[in-house]
Amino acid sequence: MTTTPTTAPQFSLTDDQRDVQAMVREFAAARITPNAAEWDRNHTFDRALYAELAELGLMGICVPTELGGAGMDFLSYVLAVEELSRADAGVGVTIAVHTSASTLPIVHWGTEAQQQAWVPKLASGEWIGSFALTESGAGSDAGSMLTRADEQADGGFRITGRKQWITNGAYAGSFITFARSEPGTTDASGVSAFLVAGDSAGLSVGRVEEKLGLNSSNTVDMVYDDVSVGADLLLGTRGKGFRIAMQTLDGGRITIAAQALGIAQAAFDLASSYAKERTTFGKPIGSHQGIAFKLAEMSVEIEAARALTYRAAALKMAGQPHTVEGAQAKLFASGVARRVTGEAIQVLGGYGYSKEFPAERYYRDAKITEIYEGTSEIQKLVIARRLLGLDVR
Ligand SMILES: Cc1cc2nc3c(=O)[nH]c(=O)nc-3n(C[C@H](O)[C@H](O)[C@H](O)COP(=O)(O)OP(=O)(O)OC[C@H]3O[C@@H](n4cnc5c(N)ncnc54)[C@H](O)[C@@H]3O)c2cc1C
Repeated sequence: MTTTPTTAPQFSLTDDQRDVQAMVREFAAARITPNAAEWDRNHTFDRALYAELAELGLMGICVPTELGGAGMDFLSYVLAVEELSRADAGVGVTIAVHTSASTLPIVHWGTEAQQQAWVPKLASGEWIGSFALTESGAGSDAGSMLTRADEQADGGFRITGRKQWITNGAYAGSFITFARSEPGTTDASGVSAFLVAGDSAGLSVGRVEEKLGLNSSNTVDMVYDDVSVGADLLLGTRGKGFRIAMQTLDGGRITIAAQALGIAQAAFDLASSYAKERTTFGKPIGSHQGIAFKLAEMSVEIEAARALTYRAAALKMAGQPHTVEGAQAKLFASGVARRVTGEAIQVLGGYGYSKEFPAERYYRDAKITEIYEGTSEIQKLVIARRLLGLDVR
């Protein structure tokens, strides 16, 4: 196996990027962190929060200003997801799915009419966006989906099927929906992407998922019962929708890496401050080599994950290939989040296992980053196939 030399531009954060980072950090500390434990306990999706994030320009942070967005760059958006996730990973994923998976595909593949009709509503926060790819029998192998889009005499389609694990589903104004439009196909080659409005007749929430963590985010099954979509709501080329899904995930994975990074950073911050205060055997536990080494290793892992994540974002901004780099960032950062949150519990001892401190929430929230937008096993396949020249997508 060969490795690709990185062509990532050298970068350090610009003043604008630092300003966004500071603004989101300040907002999150005031408005999100104090509520995160309660939202987790009560499984609260705070719809009002997203109106406030919209006022800060964060519902369309990297959407062009002509389409109602804030016109910031992709790394600014990554920094925002990192900071939000540091306060509450559920809020982080809500924004990540809304932006990367629901708004940017319309910016990239939408017709001008689609962009004008859909993007400003998403970028202003009037609508929250969803991405409906997965089904109960089609997750990693999403191309085997059963949801059908039957063509009608007028050129439109009627969508029938059930999508599973749909983030934001119960609150969404729009769904990028993937369905099989080409009869006789059973794989990714027969899939198209459609824009489906949240208030479409025949579209409903089937089941609200009970999850291990990420409780302030909304995850549901969506039922499509003969949902009518006009021909003008086909996104991109008919039968080429799977490519849109995969390229969307290329960018989305960078933001899931940022989410993992935010969770890991929060766990590290908690563990290191606790290690300075908690004393055993007459000295702070951070002075015991066993704990000091843990903290040192956690910090190195976090910085390595950060470098991979920002590198992937920089490549995307520069218009360079970033499939491998995004997958590398997500694979590594999600593992870091799992390991660092586990070690944070260890540093806090019994208190780490209690709800008195957020370490246990960080641990529960971290696990999902190894699963969605492609599991860690799938990231390894993506990386290896590209490096071996076996994937020509
Ligand atoms: C909280 C949450 C939110 C989500 N949000 C969304 C969303 O908004 N929109 C959406 O469309 N989907 C969403 N998903 C779905 C998510 O992307 C899938 O769960 C994920 O891709 C894995 O699919 P699966 O659950 O069907 O697992 P499976 O595909 O059944 O995989 C099971 C196991 O087998 C492994 N495996 C599968 N194939 C291979 C292979 N070829 N080689 C090696 N190992 C393999 C996997 O890595 C995994 O360990 C969400 C999921 C969750 C839990």
